[in-house]
Amino acid sequence: MKCLISTTLLLALLAAVAMPAVAADAANPAAKGKIRVLLTFGGHGFEEEPFFAMFDAMPDVRYTKAPLPQSADLLKPGLEKDYDVIVMYDMVGGISPEQQKAFVALLKKGIGVVSLHHNMGAHSDWGEFRKIIGGKFILKPCEIDGQQYAVSGWSHDEDMKVTVADKEHPITKGVGDFEIHDETYKGYYTAPDVKVLLKTDHPKNDPELAWVKDYGKSRVLYLMLGHDSKAWANPSFVKILTQGIDWAAGR
Ligand SMILES: [Zn+2]
Repeated sequence: MKCLISTTLLLALLAAVAMPAVAADAANPAAKGKIRVLLTFGGHGFEEEPFFAMFDAMPDVRYTKAPLPQSADLLKPGLEKDYDVIVMYDMVGGISPEQQKAFVALLKKGIGVVSLHHNMGAHSDWGEFRKIIGGKFILKPCEIDGQQYAVSGWSHDEDMKVTVADKEHPITKGVGDFEIHDETYKGYYTAPDVKVLLKTDHPKNDPELAWVKDYGKSRVLYLMLGHDSKAWANPSFVKILTQGIDWAAGR
């Protein structure tokens, strides 16, 4: 693809200067047995209080906040010993080439990945990231696998019908078709080899809303839903996210 732009160098310098803001706290005995989640954010605003409250309310999850790009050095082999799943809600512009290599090496070792909503627009100049999550929100026109893509579109506060495309999958088990008030995305890239779990027929959204795939030894879920607290208040969304974290952790 031809999306390469030279902001990567600047971002690399910024990332090198900034110190990681969090450290692993795997020794906490009260959290034994819980799924250990590293929760990334940064590069896109969101309603922080209700977002973190949603994770606070998950009885089987404990999480550490990892703002990006400051904490990008955490994403390297060894993290899989302290964490079971990385939930990525960041839309970071980029990380350094060394950090990209370390992130790929980590995923080849194996750690769960749940990529949420605008995370599809993260790492816009790093072609490998679309292979990791199986999709890409296009921020500037580019070519992928010989096909031209224009800039993707979005629309806030839409009511969307969601169809469960695979009712047998552990992530969608017990979830019926539902409606959600959320943001729509249109004209994004979806990799042909993903297994689609959720679909919609909303005219302002492409059909694929959630999918799973493998990357290296890592299980990857991409879930497009989840723009703001109106979506996070939807019990079907929370159930899919929770079961998605369980699945990515291998439970
Ligand atoms: Zn959004």
